[in-house]
Amino acid sequence: MGDKYRNLEVIAGFLNTYDKRMRFEGDPGVELLNGPEDLYSFLLEHNLILEQEKVTEQDLELAIKLREETRKTIKNPNEMDTLNELIGNFTFTIYFSEESEEIHPVHRNGKKGLAKLILLMYEIKRDDLWHRIRICSADDCQWVFVDHSRPGTGRWCSMKACGNRAKNRTFRKRNK
Ligand SMILES: [Zn+2]
Repeated sequence: MGDKYRNLEVIAGFLNTYDKRMRFEGDPGVELLNGPEDLYSFLLEHNLILEQEKVTEQDLELAIKLREETRKTIKNPNEMDTLNELIGNFTFTIYFSEESEEIHPVHRNGKKGLAKLILLMYEIKRDDLWHRIRICSADDCQWVFVDHSRPGTGRWCSMKACGNRAKNRTFRKRNK
C-alpha cells in the first residue's frame, strides 16, 4: 500500500512542477521546469534516471506535453486520446526472470526517465488508484494532491486552507 501511494506522490509532484496556485489576482502560476537541467533534477530526485544520464531540450518539450495531457485526464478521465498518442513516442520491452516479469523502457537518458513516469502511471491505473490523484477544486489553487481519505472523494488539497476558504466564501454569499 505504502509503495503504491509513493507512485501517486511522484506523479502529483510531476504535475505540480507547474504550480498553478495563485499568489495574487490573475497570477498565471510558476513554471518549475524552465530548462533541461530542471527536468534532470526532478528525474534524478525520483530515481528515474542515473546521475550520468543527460536530459535534452527535446525531453523537456515532451515532458511538458506529457504533464499537460496527464493533468487534463485527471479532470476528464475519459479523454485519454492525446495522452495515448504521446505515449506512442515511447517504446517498452518485457523482461522475464525466474521470479518476475517486468516492463522496461528501451530508451536511455531523459527519455527513459519520462518513460518510467509513464510506467508509474500504468501501475497506478492497473491498481485502480488513478482517481486518488486529484486537483484541488479551489480555482486559485489547483494543486495536485494524493487523496488518502477512505472514500477517495476529497475536493481540496487541504481542508484547513482551501476547504475552509471555500466554506467561508459560501457562508459570506449566503449572508449578504
Ligand atoms: Zn488547494
